[in-house]
Amino acid sequence: MSDKMTGQVFAIEHPLIQHKLTLMREKDTSTASFRRLLQEISMLMAYEVTRDMPVMLHPIETPLAAMDSPRLDGKKIVLFSILRAGNGMLDGMLSILPSARVAHIGLYREPKTLEAVEYYFKAPGEMGDRDVIVVDPMLATGNSAVAAVERIKGIGPRTIKFVCLLTAPEGLKTFHSRHADVPVYTAAIDSHLNEKGYIVPGLGDAGDRMYGTK
Ligand code: URA
Repeated sequence: MSDKMTGQVFAIEHPLIQHKLTLMREKDTSTASFRRLLQEISMLMAYEVTRDMPVMLHPIETPLAAMDSPRLDGKKIVLFSILRAGNGMLDGMLSILPSARVAHIGLYREPKTLEAVEYYFKAPGEMGDRDVIVVDPMLATGNSAVAAVERIKGIGPRTIKFVCLLTAPEGLKTFHSRHADVPVYTAAIDSHLNEKGYIVPGLGDAGDRMYGTK
């Protein structure tokens, strides 16, 4: 699904991802399984998300001959985790992108103004030729995603992509109304948000389910 006015959305419908997502959605899935499944899906999503990354030919020597062979172009990719649930997607992605840098942003919602307030931010210096992949399993209202990407744009990376496990039409609309230039990769687009901002049917609170904190 793609629309120039509202931004690009890639729903990754690989059967392995869909199967594992179903297991994650089930309410009786254990914390350990939930964490492992998120890791596995993230690994598979990393493959899709990096599909169009630019490469440049480099001269190398194999044991038999010299050749020009492609390598990823630019500096190392930066995986940008939105705390805390984003951390659950890091290990899977890092298994495909072992030399990626890892950055973190933490935001909380100010109860009176409902505005996203930053409490943590750590990223590599010199972002100008780095490609950022923002990870957060649940793109729900889109408010924290909007604020996080706003902040990340401020440090000037070459490109930004947003990767989630689940989203809903409301969140996509909010996100792309502010960041139409940032493509969203997701394993599924669910029906709607409930009155508490949870994705329905969704999988519940991703952070609680991966860390066993409910
Ligand atoms: N965050 C979650 O963890 N789950 C939702 O459904 C929405 C936001």
